[in-house]
Amino acid sequence: MNPINAMKLKIASFDFTCCEGCQLQLANRESHLIDFFELLDVRNFREISSERHDDYDIALIEGSISRRDEVERLLKIRQQAKVLVAFGTCACFGGINSLKNRFPLDKIVRDVYGDMAVETLPIRKISDLVKVDLSIPGCPVSKEEVERIIVSLATGSQVTLPKYPVCVECKQQLNTCLFELGEICLGPITRAGCNAVCPAGKTACLGCRGPAEEINMPAFLELVQERGLNPRDLQDKLAFYNAFEPLATDET
Ligand code: SF4
Ligand code: SF4
Ligand code: SF4
Repeated sequence: MNPINAMKLKIASFDFTCCEGCQLQLANRESHLIDFFELLDVRNFREISSERHDDYDIALIEGSISRRDEVERLLKIRQQAKVLVAFGTCACFGGINSLKNRFPLDKIVRDVYGDMAVETLPIRKISDLVKVDLSIPGCPVSKEEVERIIVSLATGSQVTLPKYPVCVECKQQLNTCLFELGEICLGPITRAGCNAVCPAGKTACLGCRGPAEEINMPAFLELVQERGLNPRDLQDKLAFYNAFEPLATDET
C-alpha cells in the first residue's frame, strides 16, 4: 500500500448494513477528537460532521452489503479511495448480519413483510465485491487500535494488528479460563487486540476479530472434544460473526 502524500489525510466514512457502532466508537472518543482532527481532513463522516465532499484518500467502510444500491455505492467509493478500509467485523467478515444467510430469504421476507416489495440480498463482506487495502476487525472496533492505524497511515509507517490470540491478553489479566468453567471460548483461535474484554467479563469470546495468525485448529478442536463440550455450541460460536467461514466445517 502506498503512503498517502498529504499534509492532512482526507478521510471519509461510509455506513452500509450495520448498527453504526464502529463509527460511533470514533465519534464518542471526545477527549481525543481534537488531536485526531489535527491529523485529518474529514470529507464525509455522518456521525461527526455535516461536511459532504467526494474527494478523499481513505475510505472507512462500515457494514456489510445487503442491497443492490449498496453495491453501486461501494464500487464508486472504491474508484475514489486510495486506501479502502474494511472497518469493523461486519465489513471484514459479514458480521452478525450473516446470520441472515442461514435462513431461506424469500420465505422470511414473505413471512415478515407479506406482499410489500422489499429488496434484500444475502449478506456479503466488502472483499467479496471490491479490493480491500486494510482490515480493522472488531465488533465494535477498538478506538485505540483505529487511532494507532490512522496515525500509521498518516506517517507512512507499517500498519500492524496483533498476530497472537486473545488468550494471551486474557492470561495477562489472570482471568479464570472459561474452559475451566465448562464453556467453549474462541480465545485460542481469535486475533487479539480487544484486551480480552469478553472473557474478562466472564463471557466467551465469539471471535469477532477473526482468526489469529498460525492458529492450531486441530488442537483447539481436540480441546473442545476432550472436555466433552457440545459440538453444536462450537459451530454456533464459529458461525456467529462469520469470521471463521473457511474453518467452520462439518467436522466441527
Ligand atoms: S461490527 Fe459490530 S459494532 Fe460495528 S457496525 Fe457491525 S454490528 Fe455494529
Ligand atoms: S477464557 Fe478464553 S481467552 Fe481466556 S484463556 Fe480461556 S480460552 Fe483463552
Ligand atoms: S473477546 Fe472475542 S468476541 Fe470479545 S471483543 Fe475480543 S475478539 Fe471480540
